Amino acid sequence: MKVLVLNCGSSSVKFQVIETSLEMIEADTDRTLARGGVEKIGLSDSRLTLDVEGRKPYQEISEILEHRAAVERILKILVHPEHGVLADVSEIEAVGHRMVHGGEKFASSVLITPEVEAGIEECVVLAPLHNPHNLRGLRAARGLLPNVPHIAVFDTAFHQSMPARAYIYALPYDLYLRHGIRRYGFHGTSHRYVAIRTARLLGRKLDEMKIITCHLGNGCSMAAVARGRSVDTTMGFTPLEGLVMGTRCGDLDPAILPWVMAMEELTLAQLNAMLNKHSGLYGMSGVSSDMREIEAACERGSRRAQLAMEVFCYRITKYIGAYAAAMGGVDAITFTGGIGENSVKVRAMAIAPLTFLGAELDGERNTHAPRGKECVISRDGSRVVVAVVPTNEERVIARDTVRVLGGVMPSFAAPETAAPR
Ligand code: ADP
Repeated sequence: MKVLVLNCGSSSVKFQVIETSLEMIEADTDRTLARGGVEKIGLSDSRLTLDVEGRKPYQEISEILEHRAAVERILKILVHPEHGVLADVSEIEAVGHRMVHGGEKFASSVLITPEVEAGIEECVVLAPLHNPHNLRGLRAARGLLPNVPHIAVFDTAFHQSMPARAYIYALPYDLYLRHGIRRYGFHGTSHRYVAIRTARLLGRKLDEMKIITCHLGNGCSMAAVARGRSVDTTMGFTPLEGLVMGTRCGDLDPAILPWVMAMEELTLAQLNAMLNKHSGLYGMSGVSSDMREIEAACERGSRRAQLAMEVFCYRITKYIGAYAAAMGGVDAITFTGGIGENSVKVRAMAIAPLTFLGAELDGERNTHAPRGKECVISRDGSRVVVAVVPTNEERVIARDTVRVLGGVMPSFAAPETAAPR
């Protein structure tokens, strides 16, 4: 079936049309027919792009004022006689929606019913910058495609299998009970996909493996995946915790926050901006949040860029150690995301100190890892396999849409380890 995948942000809608089915998932033959998006929604120069394999990329600039108009434009271009890939919108048999936060309510991808929609609405308080836009996209798409099922796929669902010891913060317990303050984790679709692909790449069974997945993009997170289930992850109540990111600080002594607020006379909004927009690679280096620019600055001899690189990689190394301990061992470490898939240097620096753990990179394989392909970059005989697996979150969303409709969607709930209420 043809599934439309939508990922709606505050001023953008990204989409893919993916041809998939349970049989195609099994045979790994599902494929993207078209991808693209609308950017700068709300402005007079909104941009629609469409990419179809084997064709010249298409784009048009026009005023697109809100999400419904954006989805309408997307549907129109998809059936355009020259640029489109569908004869009619009725070819779209289901829509898969990326939802950022599913709280503790959703441990699986689900068919969107009025109750589910109310549940997503309740999670808005946990992700006020994301869920409202996801919901806006859902409502727009449902208005335009009212006769097909709409499925929600949550960034947080895969991590719902974490045991309470991994997700409870050592804060007054009341904060968890009253406000749901706990670790949720994000990038779940990516960690799940990459773990499954790693097992497949190695010809091993996922439910017999301990895998550490490193999703390194603008946002960065890692997950400890034991027997196919997430048992810990670096992002927490929000996507700010854990690894160093492009502009986000990751782990921090929380006492720094009131201290800096007082000393620098910051407002809450300024403090938030500092942590989310002016920290990370950008904050440390003063150069850029973009790893390519950091690497270029290192080449030019920038000591601060070099330091930023070291802090970035050291934290990954440290978490690999922590997650090996958490799982009582590790069989594979997998890199994904723009940095994980492309930065030879980051992979080399993060793995180099881990020979004691049995992870030994093959310099040649690491340097010549084919772009966009799944591959092993550790030496033959390395006890821990190190791999690169390009992520594909839209593919997971399309696949989950098919799985939900086929009644074969797994759940990642772990009630036996849930925290007491
Ligand atoms: P997002 O989290 O927004 O999806 P991506 O996964 O696209 O981001 O990752 C963006 C990051 O990947 C940027 O820091 C970028 O510099 C980095 N990146 C992309 N290509 C390369 C490359 N060839 N070498 C090093 N870093 C790269």
